[in-house]
Amino acid sequence: MRLNIILSIILTITLTLFGCNKQEQLAPSTTEKTNNKLIIYTTVYPLQDFAQKIGGEHVQVESVYPPGVDVHTYEPTAKTMQQIADADAFIYIGQGMEGFVERIVKTLENERVKFMEATAGMDLLRSNHTHEDEHAHENEHAHEDEHAHEDEQKDEHDHGNVDPHIWLDPIYSIQMAETIKQTLIELKPEAKQDFEQNFASLKQQLEQLDSQFQQLIKDAKTKEILVAHAAYGYWEKRYGLKQISVTGLSPTNEPSQKQLASIIQTAKEHDIRYIFFEQNVTSKIAEVVKNEIGADVLILHNLEARTNNDIANNKDYFAIMNDNISALKKALQ
Ligand SMILES: [Zn+2]
Repeated sequence: MRLNIILSIILTITLTLFGCNKQEQLAPSTTEKTNNKLIIYTTVYPLQDFAQKIGGEHVQVESVYPPGVDVHTYEPTAKTMQQIADADAFIYIGQGMEGFVERIVKTLENERVKFMEATAGMDLLRSNHTHEDEHAHENEHAHEDEHAHEDEQKDEHDHGNVDPHIWLDPIYSIQMAETIKQTLIELKPEAKQDFEQNFASLKQQLEQLDSQFQQLIKDAKTKEILVAHAAYGYWEKRYGLKQISVTGLSPTNEPSQKQLASIIQTAKEHDIRYIFFEQNVTSKIAEVVKNEIGADVLILHNLEARTNNDIANNKDYFAIMNDNISALKKALQ
């Protein structure tokens, strides 16, 4: 009797998975032939969301990143490589953000897939947040001389010195969305009008988000945030926030003992009460800092990859950014 119930539950789940969601379960190449949608793969989640929003009914977009993955150390499987090879386009941030991409572009250069670097032609932020100059915090807000340290940096992480987290800036996101729109128009010129229209409303939403950030900073009592991973340089540049980070541009760049002590000291001196952890990265060192200064944990979502929870709750770029703004509001009081 109980077995029957269990079996029928399993059957129902199976039917739900393979029946109703048939479209999503099929390999994209198969889907393409049946419904004529463009098959697009992306790296970070915002590229997926923007491409889906601009492409609308004409596209099927997926990120190659599994939910919640630490994108800084991600390597694609053979199956993923094949899916990319069979796609109409592969959209990525570029500028060294995705360590595996250069190899993929080389390996798949004779395939039909169109490679599109979303930041092509954009001048990205050269970050000061590698750990070699974290001691900029030591000499009392000596941010004027941050550049003096640039030559000393020997930190060889995936991103070089370029900060890849550009999608966190709504204005730069508009530029990337524009590039995505152009690519979609090239791939499907007959849908140009739809793409233009969808892009216009996405642009409007991104401008609105920009205003929200400006308002947030206007109302803020402090501009400093303590973060586990230095992903928020674009908010510094655009809005005047100041991130004190435990790890570098990639969470694998951990601070030395001396740097760690300096971060803790700075956080104490500046009376920092919150530390921001992220949805996809856990850092033992950030945990140490949190305990050392007795901070409460808040979550900032860097949008690199969505979690299973985000997917279940249908959280898009804007929903996640709204959560970020709420968390920042709390920390900036
Ligand atoms: Zn990152």
